[in-house]
Amino acid sequence: MSTTIQEQIEKLRAELHEYNYHYYTLDKSTISDFEFDSKLKALQQLENENPDFFDANSPTQRVGGGITKNFETIVHKNRMYSLDNSYSKEDLLDWETRIKKVIEGPVEYTCELKYDGASINITYENGVLIKAVTRGDGFQGDNVTNNIKTINTLPLKLQGSFLDSFEIRGEIVLPLQGFEQMNKERLAVGEEPYANPRNTASGSLKLQDSLEVAKRPLECLLYQVVADQKLFETHATMLENARAAGFHVPTDLFVAKSIDEVISFVERWDMERANLPYETDGVVIKVNSLRQQDELGFTAKAPRWAIAYKFKTEQQATVLNEISYQVGRTGAITPVANLVPVALGGTVVRRASLHNADQISKLDIRIGDTVFVEKGGEIIPKIVGVDLTQRPVNSVPTVYISNCPECEAELVRTEGDAKHFCPNEFGCPPQITGRIQHFISRKAMDIEGLGGETVDLLRKEGLISNYADLYELTLEQIIPLERMAEKSAQNMLAGIQKSLEIPFEKVLFALGIRFVGETVAKKLAKHFKSMEALMNASFEELVKVDEIGDRIAESIVAFSKDALNRDLVARLRTYGVQLEVSAESLVGKTEKLEGAVFVVSGVFHKMSRNELKKAIEDNGGKVSSSISKKTNYVVAGENMGPSKLEKASSLGVPIISEDDFIKML
Ligand code: AMP
Ligand code: ZN
Repeated sequence: MSTTIQEQIEKLRAELHEYNYHYYTLDKSTISDFEFDSKLKALQQLENENPDFFDANSPTQRVGGGITKNFETIVHKNRMYSLDNSYSKEDLLDWETRIKKVIEGPVEYTCELKYDGASINITYENGVLIKAVTRGDGFQGDNVTNNIKTINTLPLKLQGSFLDSFEIRGEIVLPLQGFEQMNKERLAVGEEPYANPRNTASGSLKLQDSLEVAKRPLECLLYQVVADQKLFETHATMLENARAAGFHVPTDLFVAKSIDEVISFVERWDMERANLPYETDGVVIKVNSLRQQDELGFTAKAPRWAIAYKFKTEQQATVLNEISYQVGRTGAITPVANLVPVALGGTVVRRASLHNADQISKLDIRIGDTVFVEKGGEIIPKIVGVDLTQRPVNSVPTVYISNCPECEAELVRTEGDAKHFCPNEFGCPPQITGRIQHFISRKAMDIEGLGGETVDLLRKEGLISNYADLYELTLEQIIPLERMAEKSAQNMLAGIQKSLEIPFEKVLFALGIRFVGETVAKKLAKHFKSMEALMNASFEELVKVDEIGDRIAESIVAFSKDALNRDLVARLRTYGVQLEVSAESLVGKTEKLEGAVFVVSGVFHKMSRNELKKAIEDNGGKVSSSISKKTNYVVAGENMGPSKLEKASSLGVPIISEDDFIKML
């Protein structure tokens, strides 16, 4: 019995939906990342070759790729109402009184956290996702389906049976950890960090390129189902069933029998929310019985059966002792407020960000002022205002520094930049250390045996003042350093030596050219193939490259013109650092097939069977002689044995041609 292509496709889709659900929603991995990727690739390939079997909800649709120029406006089938707010127990008791005027008998309330992100309305029919629309003005929103599909925790196909046709509403959020990571990466290439997770989440929904959305670690937390079908009696059971169907419904859902129980829930989470991976700004309380909800209905703006309880924004007054200025790796200056320590949201706050000069002058923040500190969306607390009634009589307006606190160089501020910069790239200590730290980091030269603190020590000792100097370090120089054992000194030098194998694209990233991040470096390396060609490229040639804009091009031209940079690059070349795309990386060895198991069968045309096997191994794959569950691909030539063919089909192992294989490389 052999399976048809369609059956193969469906089998892979079903498996991938299942793995995805286990991995992302249940947080249990049932398959290795590699196996997952290779199944996904196999499916992608089959789908490409058989466009008739296209399915908008195939797991392959999650990787993104579609560009949306203008988001289509869609009218919501059911209006997305706002919520009334409450701020105290009295407010909640008033709300209960209004409810009791309509409803006789006992009322139960559900309590859920109010996640702070962007709301979304997603339609499902017959178990599959149909469309996802932003809230907009509540009556109509934007169709952002392609972007939403990239969110791994959102099911494209439901598990088991749920309602036939329904809308489900939720909040798209950016977990704090992912947000911090995104900002770290932006800072590493000299870009301004995003202000807060909420705006970044809602901005992500409207990105034109869904590939970009797929890179962001967005989550979709669901809190409301709207359906004509009356299968459930309560809001809580409806959500629990939605969770069983594969939706990420937060588990903090609680059913309260009284307003007192609601208050306990609020008080508990007001403390505990500091430990949550996402931001919340309150609790949403809903009447649990769906029949009672119907009876209560809506006002012009909000449901009568629900209310939001807003946590008090954590704000404290304290005195500003001093403003200090930090110099980043790229020379960006950040003013920092040093405060009289104050307890805020479970931690003691001593410092707060003042962002930039404009922020200080806008709020007229002065040393000695009593200021209000808030822990909002930002991870670092911020100053939101000044208590002018407490201003000391002799207070003087803050004058922003004009010279670098580390190296005295005169600061510059280019138009459109909110920040001041220290232009002394090669003489400013934190910039020197920062640039070398970036150079050795894992995604750059990945130098083992050398850490950030040692870099700073080496610089202070005068042993290095740029990344090229690393390659001239000797054992005699480093062994005498404090806390440096001979073994670790050797490891460090071995690590530096090993970095000579790092491919050009990573070297290019390691150089720390402003705005040249990992992806841009890859693009440039692929296009120009060598550092020399890149450094000789004109602005016009640079902007012609896909995705290279004016800003990046200008930065590269400035880097290349600089005599000191040219000298550094020349030195790196003499040490043997890879400054061009190696011939090997084009034809020979890669790790593209890392861990994949191939079975080769039949007669080939473009290469011999042995060449094919060598190509598999040279690129990190394994060749096996018999097909089993462990086989990832069968490369089939002419006259492949029928028994192998049958075995591969029955195990669902993708069968690829010689050309497919070449494409994989
Ligand atoms: P507001 O924007 O202040 O009127 O609050 C209403 C918004 O709260 C809704 O549009 C949702 O986006 C959001 N929200 C967050 N969590 C919940 C929840 N558990 N239940 C209902 N709405 C929620
Ligand atoms: Zn400086």
